[in-house]
Amino acid sequence: ILETRELNKWFGGLHVTGNVDFTLEQGEIHCLIGPNGAGKSTFFRLILGEHLPTSGTILYAGEDITHAKPFQRIGKGISVKFQVPGIFKALSVRHNLTIALQDHYPVSRLDEEIDRLLEFLKLTEAQRQLAGNLSHGQKQWLEIGMAIGLKPRLLLLDEPTAGMTPDETFATGEMVQELNRQGVTVLAVEHDMAFVRQIAQRVTVLHFGKIFAQGTIDEIVADERVTAIYLGEAHA
Ligand code: ATP
Ligand code: MG
Repeated sequence: ILETRELNKWFGGLHVTGNVDFTLEQGEIHCLIGPNGAGKSTFFRLILGEHLPTSGTILYAGEDITHAKPFQRIGKGISVKFQVPGIFKALSVRHNLTIALQDHYPVSRLDEEIDRLLEFLKLTEAQRQLAGNLSHGQKQWLEIGMAIGLKPRLLLLDEPTAGMTPDETFATGEMVQELNRQGVTVLAVEHDMAFVRQIAQRVTVLHFGKIFAQGTIDEIVADERVTAIYLGEAHA
């Protein structure tokens, strides 16, 4: 569903995305891991079009979207939950979802869609609370809701479980798997290996902006080269 070809991004002298040839298959759940600063979030911004690549091509469903604007990519079914929170803390949970979804549904269906989404996110009871008063986990679910309310075909999640308890993390994994059963292809940046093991069909390791390893979670954790990068011993 998504393919990058020789994708490069430089920030001044910093090579943050290094000739990345990456393929995401339709229907898979794929996790992107790698040390801090590896370029994972930048890769998401390139896919959404918030950054333009220095060189290279991005194909989505066979179409060249390298120069498409973010709103055009969203319109084609790409949706992102970024690492940086994008919720309005002083507004209620429901109000946040309304703002995120109102341009995407007719008024007659909006309330019903939001009810369904709140239920899916386990936020029905919290819907009148101010978003700023939610727990870390609930905030993440709200963020995920703002992304999935757009009914994406491709969902990018940047650290969806950050700040969550183990129970919340597990519940998030079940949400992701349910979305996947409904046909959504998922690419998730994740640090929690238990979560990666729970959801990922395939894993890509990014290191200094380059694809360092790819495989199943078992192959990745058994790879001593991968362990070494987390210990700061390997260089790209
Ligand atoms: P983390 O695990 O900490 O979230 P990451 O893998 O998501 O890290 P990125 O945020 O993509 O990493 O950053 C990769 C590198 O690019 C870092 O060295 C960062 O400082 C740099 N960088 C990111 N955005 C910019 C920018 N807009 N301008 C300049 N440098 C940037
Ligand atoms: Mg990041």
